[in-house]
Formats: sequence, structure tokens, C-alpha cells
Amino acid sequence: MMGGAGLFLLYFGTVWLSQAVWWNLPERKFFIFGATFWPQDFILLSGILIVSAFGLFFITVYAGRIWCGYTCPQSVWTWIFMWCEKVTEGDPNQRIKLDKAPMSANKFLRKLSKHTMWLLIGFVTGMTFVGYFSPIRELTIDFFTGEADGWSYFWVGFFTLATYGNAGWLREQVCIYMCPYARFQSVMQRQGSPAGGLRLQPVSR
Ligand code: SF4
Repeated sequence: MMGGAGLFLLYFGTVWLSQAVWWNLPERKFFIFGATFWPQDFILLSGILIVSAFGLFFITVYAGRIWCGYTCPQSVWTWIFMWCEKVTEGDPNQRIKLDKAPMSANKFLRKLSKHTMWLLIGFVTGMTFVGYFSPIRELTIDFFTGEADGWSYFWVGFFTLATYGNAGWLREQVCIYMCPYARFQSVMQRQGSPAGGLRLQPVSR
């Protein structure tokens, strides 16, 4: 859980606190924690990615699905969405009861609060992701004053809905049907490797 929280803070802090990472695509310059990279440096980036991939394989073989269980964004965001669900609708038994109950002001307000929280988290996530490609302070001001370009609105909207859909509705379905890592991780695990990843959870709509 601490690993997930650390990565969550890194994801937001990198952009909102210091713009430590900026993929400046129009000028083909990439700023990563004070260093500037050019397209010809991509071989270096490829090397880092390959080492990271082998590191992940190594960890999976010897420690099981640690990545899935503690640090995968799909897991971390799902935990946050589940927390929203708990705060607004209660524990799993209370949620099942609420889902079966006829619509009332209480049910409507609880559902509305949950989906509003989900969408707000999705929006901040999407805005932050676009902030990796466009300075976040200018982007935020332009976005809310209607001055941002159409692609910024499109991508923020896209990632807002993708976060809302993945962490709110799909959850472990992403692991079962969509994730490439899930396809081959079983062959990397030894007998007795610890399990991880998302557990099946009752999702109320
Ligand atoms: S199976 Fe894939 S999506 Fe699911 S937790 Fe693991 S890495 Fe993440």
C-alpha cells in the first residue's frame, strides 16, 4: 500500500509541484528531473525501459505479483475508487442493500456523491496526465478560461472517462481481459509465489 501511495504522490507531485517532467513534443525536447533529452537520446530511454522490464520480470519470478498488488495504477486507482464507494455507500453489505432498494432521495444522493467523486478524481488524473505534455499551470488556466486548444480538451476528457471507466466500472476485468502483463505473468511465477493484483469486489452502480 505504501508503494502505491508513493507512486500516486509521484504521479501528481511530478507535475503539480515542480513540472519535473515535461514531454515537449512540438520542440522535440524532453525534460526529466532536470535533464534535457533529445530524440537522438531515445536509445538511452529504450535501455532504461528494457532494464525496467527485466527488473519487473525478475521481481515477478522471485516475489510474485508485487507489481499488481501494490503499485499498478489500475490497482491504486481502484483502491481509491473503492474508498469513495465505501464513504458514500457503506460496506459491501450496505451497498448490496442500497442497490436493491427502490430509488429514494437518500439513494440518489449517495449515488450522485459517488459518481461525482469518481469523475473528479478522473478529471484530476486526466488533467495531470496532459500536464506531462503541456505545462500544467498554463494548461489549467487556459482550460478553465476556454483558451486551451481542442486536443487538450479531448485528451483531458478521454483520460477522465478512461479513469472513471477503468477504476469505477471495469476494475479486475482490465486484469482478466485487457492487461498484457496478466497474459504472461503466470509463466514467470514459481510455485508458491505470493499472489497479488485486484481481488473480485462487488461493484455497485
Ligand atoms: S494484471 Fe495488469 S492491470 Fe491488473 S493489476 Fe496486474 S499489471 Fe495491473
